[in-house]
Amino acid sequence: MHERHLKTSSDRAPDAASGTRQSAALFLRTSPESFRQTALAKAERDTVALPCAMSDLLCLAEHLQKAEAVLIGAGAGLSTSAGYRYDGPVFEQNFADFIARYHFTDMYTAGFFRFSSLEEHWAYWSRHIFLNRYCPIPKDTYAHLLKLVQGRDYFVLTTNVDHCFQRAGFAKDRLFYTQGDYGLWQCSVPCQNRTWDNETQVRAMLAEQQDRRIPSGRVPFCPVCGAPMTMNLRSDASFVEDEGWHAAQARYRDFVHRTADKKVLLLELGVGGNTPGIIKYPFWQMACRNARSFLVCLNLHEAFCPPELKGRSLCLAADIYAVLCALTDLLANRASAL
Ligand SMILES: [Zn+2]
Repeated sequence: MHERHLKTSSDRAPDAASGTRQSAALFLRTSPESFRQTALAKAERDTVALPCAMSDLLCLAEHLQKAEAVLIGAGAGLSTSAGYRYDGPVFEQNFADFIARYHFTDMYTAGFFRFSSLEEHWAYWSRHIFLNRYCPIPKDTYAHLLKLVQGRDYFVLTTNVDHCFQRAGFAKDRLFYTQGDYGLWQCSVPCQNRTWDNETQVRAMLAEQQDRRIPSGRVPFCPVCGAPMTMNLRSDASFVEDEGWHAAQARYRDFVHRTADKKVLLLELGVGGNTPGIIKYPFWQMACRNARSFLVCLNLHEAFCPPELKGRSLCLAADIYAVLCALTDLLANRASAL
């Protein structure tokens, strides 16, 4: 669907000697595997042994098994439970030079910083993209979730931009990423509703950057109008909703329409309060309208839903990873006992 190769004004091969430069060597200390290990070590310490009461787990298992369809709504908390963090050791190891210069505290706030040059902007962003989009997912949270819905009639609505669902093997035609993807660029104007895959260029930017700057020849520009490229992330009205975005939206609407009166399990995972109008409120409305549905809100810190859904909902303030592991174990044991 997306263009695989974006020709830039200097689309040359990475310099093999660049790894010996001090700044590149500093950054490349974090290989994909060491990224995984560092994030995992922190995540393991956060994991709770017993995530919730057995009665809640059994309730969840029962509604999952008898559901005719499962609609997953996933927010940032799901990727946090998969080991992703915007602060902590991974951030400190890979942005030490930016932290020393600008006193950044985490990747979230740093993502809003306005750099004085595009060379520095992309030195920062290539690391941000690589860590969150192209390194392996630290924990198998998404894989556990896939086990629970594979072979079922399911759909995923998510505000996450790290592409974890697709990376974990979820069917592409059952996903709707509403807020963009770290792996895509768009024209900053934008001159058209089109996006471009950025992996090749991001890897080259990583290999060739030094002193917090990429080479000027690596700065990406729109191949149509020549304006600078920018991230395909929704932050204002210039966000590009391309052909793939609209197709996913149509599939999501179709799923909601054809399951409107079915026994639907609405599974809200790690949805915070930043953009409740995308997942949380529509899920509440669907649950209120469809008396055969059941809503589960799984969130470490903010597990709640309207009182009108009492008796048709389950709110669990627990670690998502721990709950999904316990649930897959429970269902596997139950299946083997039959
Ligand atoms: Zn353009």
